[in-house]
Amino acid sequence: MTKHVYSFGGDRNEGSASMRNLLGGKGCNLAEMASLNIPVPPGFTVTTDVCTLYNQAGKQLPTDVIEQIKEALKWLEGTRGKKLGDAANPLLVSVRSGARDSMPGMMDTVLNLGLNDQTVEGLAKASGNPRFAYDSYRRFIMMYSDVVMDVHKDHFEEKIEELKAKTGKKLDTEITAEEWKELCGEFKKIVKAKLGKDFPQDPWEQLLGAVCAVFNSWDTERAIIYRRMNRIPDEWGTAVNVQTMVFGNMGDDCGTGVAFTRDPGTGEPYFFGEYLINAQGEDVVAGIRTPQPITKYQAADSGLKSLEEAMPEVFKTLLDTCNRLEKHFKNMQDLEFTIEQRQLYMLQTRNGKRTALAGIRIAIDMVKEGLIDEQEALKRINPDDLTQLLAPIFDVKEKAAFKKAGKMMAKGLPAGPGAAAGIIALSAEEAEQLSAKGPVVLVRTETSPEDLAGMVAAQGILTARGGMTSHAAVVARGMGKPCVCGASNLVIDTVKRTVTAGDIVLKAGVDNISIDGSAGEIYAGKLSAFPSEVNQVLVDKSLDGSKSETYQRFATIMGWANKYRTMKVRTNADTPKDAGVAVAFGAEGVGLCRTEHMFFEGERILAVREMILSKDVEGRKTALAKVLPMQRKDFEGIFEAMNGMPVNIRLIDPPLHEFVPHDEKGQADMAKVLGVSVEEVKHRVEKLHEFNPMMGHRGCRLGITYPEIIRMQMRAIAEAAINVEKKGIKAHPEVMVPLVGHVKELAFTKAEMLAEVAAINKEQGANFSCPIGTMIEIPRAAITADQVATEADYFSFGTNDLTQMGFGFSRDDSGSFLPEYVSKKILEDDPFQSLDQQGIGELVKIAATKGRSVKPDLKLGVCGEHGGDPRSVKFFYKVGLNYVSCSPFRVPIAIVAAAQASLEAK
Ligand code: PEP
Ligand code: MG
Repeated sequence: MTKHVYSFGGDRNEGSASMRNLLGGKGCNLAEMASLNIPVPPGFTVTTDVCTLYNQAGKQLPTDVIEQIKEALKWLEGTRGKKLGDAANPLLVSVRSGARDSMPGMMDTVLNLGLNDQTVEGLAKASGNPRFAYDSYRRFIMMYSDVVMDVHKDHFEEKIEELKAKTGKKLDTEITAEEWKELCGEFKKIVKAKLGKDFPQDPWEQLLGAVCAVFNSWDTERAIIYRRMNRIPDEWGTAVNVQTMVFGNMGDDCGTGVAFTRDPGTGEPYFFGEYLINAQGEDVVAGIRTPQPITKYQAADSGLKSLEEAMPEVFKTLLDTCNRLEKHFKNMQDLEFTIEQRQLYMLQTRNGKRTALAGIRIAIDMVKEGLIDEQEALKRINPDDLTQLLAPIFDVKEKAAFKKAGKMMAKGLPAGPGAAAGIIALSAEEAEQLSAKGPVVLVRTETSPEDLAGMVAAQGILTARGGMTSHAAVVARGMGKPCVCGASNLVIDTVKRTVTAGDIVLKAGVDNISIDGSAGEIYAGKLSAFPSEVNQVLVDKSLDGSKSETYQRFATIMGWANKYRTMKVRTNADTPKDAGVAVAFGAEGVGLCRTEHMFFEGERILAVREMILSKDVEGRKTALAKVLPMQRKDFEGIFEAMNGMPVNIRLIDPPLHEFVPHDEKGQADMAKVLGVSVEEVKHRVEKLHEFNPMMGHRGCRLGITYPEIIRMQMRAIAEAAINVEKKGIKAHPEVMVPLVGHVKELAFTKAEMLAEVAAINKEQGANFSCPIGTMIEIPRAAITADQVATEADYFSFGTNDLTQMGFGFSRDDSGSFLPEYVSKKILEDDPFQSLDQQGIGELVKIAATKGRSVKPDLKLGVCGEHGGDPRSVKFFYKVGLNYVSCSPFRVPIAIVAAAQASLEAK
C-alpha cells in the first residue's frame, strides 16, 4: 500500500528534510525541526503525490488517502489527549499548503479547524477565555467560508466594520467575547444566505473540505502565474499539512510573527522580523494591524516595542532556535512562529527569498563564516543577479512614490538592464542634438542600424515594438544601455510629437521619461539614476575599489568563478571602447566583431553608401578605397585594446539596403557625392528593396556577388595586424564568414580572402596568416558540418539566426506572437532569449559532432545572444563548446554560469 500521509512531532516523526519532493518544503522541514527537538506542534502531511491523484480522479480524494488521514488523526488525538469535535476537549488544527519550492502567499490556509457551536464552548471553558474562543471561531468561519466555500471574506469584514462603527471601537483586540459571539451568528447567516446551506458543523467534513481546498488552490490563477515566473512545473503539486493549533491570540502573553535570520533586502547579517501580540498568523500578513519589530536594533527610533524588550526570555529562545536552524540548513532562514502563553512554537522554516544584492552578500558572508564553501556559494548565486551589481539604478523610494502617484505609464520587455531618465527624443538626430544639453531617452516605434548614433547619444532606449533580440535590444545590451522593448501600450505620434499611454501625454523635446530596463517599466517624469559602483571602479575608474563593498563582492565572485570554470568567455564588441569594458569585466577575447557597425560612424557612412550605390566594380573599388583606412584604424584600435587576445572578426553581414539613405536629404547628399541626379539615387535605392531581407542578399552572399568587399575587409584586418605588430602589440585576428549554408560558399569566400592575404604579404614582405572560420547559423550548415569543417578552421554558432531559420520565426516580428506561445505553453521560453535545447540545441550538437568528426580539435564557440544566458551557457558547456561570447555587460554572468556548469558536472 502506498503511504500517502506522514506524521511529524510527538512520538511519531516519519519525514525529514530529504523528503522535500514528497512532503513539500513546509512538511519536510517541520519533520526535520521535530527531529532536532525544536518545539513544533505535531501534525501530519498529505503528500504532493496525492495532489496529482486528486486531480486525476476529477478532484476527489481517493478512499485509501481518506483512510490514512483518519489513522493519522487518531494518532494526533492520542498524542494531544484531545479529540476533533469533542465538545469538552476539542482538538483544533490548521490546514496549510506546502509545495516543493515555496510559493509565498500563492495558496490557501485554514486555521482553527474543528470549531463549531459546541466545541467553541468547550474551548472557552478549557481555556477559561471565552473571548479567545469566539475570536478563534469567527476567524475560522471567515477563513473556511472564503477558502473552501468561495464566500469572499469582504462580506465578513463589512460586519466587523459595522460593529466597530456602532460601538466606537478601533481595534479587533477591543472587541469582547459577547460581541464576537454575536458576529459568529451573523457570519453563519451570511453563509446560509449566499449558499442556501448551513456552515458545516461536522469537524470531519470541515477537515476533508479544507484538504481539498488546499489542493484546489494549486490551480488558482495567481499560483499558476507564480509558477510560470519561477519555472515551477505544474506536475509538482502541493502537499497539505494538518497541524495542531497553537494560539497566539489567547492574550497579551501570546503572539505570532515572522523572522529572517538575515535581512532579506540587503543581506546584512542581522536577525530581522515582525510580530504582533495577541494575534493569529494572518494578522501579520494581512496588514490589519501594523506589526512590531522583533529586535531592539530594528526598532531603533521607531518608538515601537520590540519582542526583545516585550518578552526577553521568549526572544532569546527564538534567536537561539533561528541561529540553530540557519546553521543546520546552512542558509538564510525565513521562519514563522507562534507564542502561546510565553511558550515558543515554530510553525515553519524555509530558505528565505531575498533580493539579488542580498543573495550575493549572504553567499559571500557565509563562506567567510565557514558555513559553506566557495563552490556551494557559487552554485547558489543566480548568474543573472549580477546585472544588478552592474546596472545603473533608480532611487528605490523615489520609484515607489512615482508608482503610487500613477506615473507608471506602461510595461514592456526588460531588454537592457539598468535605469535611464531623460528628455524624449523621437529620432536619432533629435537624440544627438538634445544630448548636447542633457540626458535623453530615444523613443522609437522600432530602431534600425541607422539609429545607432542616436542610441549612442541616448541614456536609454525605448521601443513600442520588437522583442528581446530586436535590433534595439541587441545593440543596447551591447552598449550596456538600459532598454525597454515591445511596450505596445505606448502610442508614439511623430507628427504631434507625443508619447501617450492612457491619459498620460508626454511631449517630445520637452518632457522627461524614465525607463527601468531591469523591470521593463516606463515612468512619466524624471527619476534619479546612479551608475553602479562596479562600473565606477572598473570602467569610469572614478572610484577606488577598496572603498566599495559592492565592487569587492563582485570581485570575490569573479575570482571564485574563474577558479572553477573551464569554458572561456569572450565578448561581442565592435569598438575598442566596448572591447575594453568587456576585458575589465573579465572577457578573454572578442567572440564577434560585427564589422558593419563600424560603417555608421561619422563621415564613413557616405563612403559606404557610395560603394553600395555605385553602378560598377570600378565605382565600388573607388569607394572601398575610402573605407579601407577607416576600417583598418578600427581594427588597430581593437587589437590594441585586446592586446594579444583573440579577436574574431566577421565579414559584412546585413542586407545592403540597411545602409542606404531612405530620406530626401540623405538621398540629395548622395546625389552630390556620386555626381548623379536625386532621381537616379532614389532609383538605385529602390532597386535594393527586398521582400524578405533577412533571407535575401546578405551575409556571404554579398561577398560572393561583390568580392571586392571581402578583399577590402581582409586587407583592413591584415594590414591592421601587421601595423600593430610593428608597435610591439600582438594581434590575433580570426576572420569568419557569415550565413554560410553550403561548404562551397565558404570555399569561394576563403579563396578570395587568402588571395588578398597573399597579395599583402607579397607587397609588404610579411607572412601574415590567421584562422578562417565560419558562422554556423543556417540549419543546412549545421547538418552538413562535416563538409563545412573541411574548409573551416573554427565554427562560431550564430544562434540568433539559427533560431530564426530553424524555427522560421522572424527575429524582428516574433514579438507579436511569441509571448502567446509562452503563455499558452507551446514553448516554455522565448527561444531567442533562452536556447531551444531540444531543437536548435540539437542542431548545435549535430554540427559540433560532425565538425569534430573531421577535425577533432575544431574550436567551437557561440556568439548569438544565448552566449549570455545562463541556462544556454550550461547547455553549450555540455555540448563541448570551447567558449561563449556575449555583450560586455553580460560577461560576468556568462563567467559565473560557466563556473556553475563545471561544478554541476562534477
Ligand atoms: C547570430 O545570428 O546569432 C549572430 C550572432 O549574428 P547576428 O545577430 O548579427 O545576425
Ligand atoms: Mg547572424
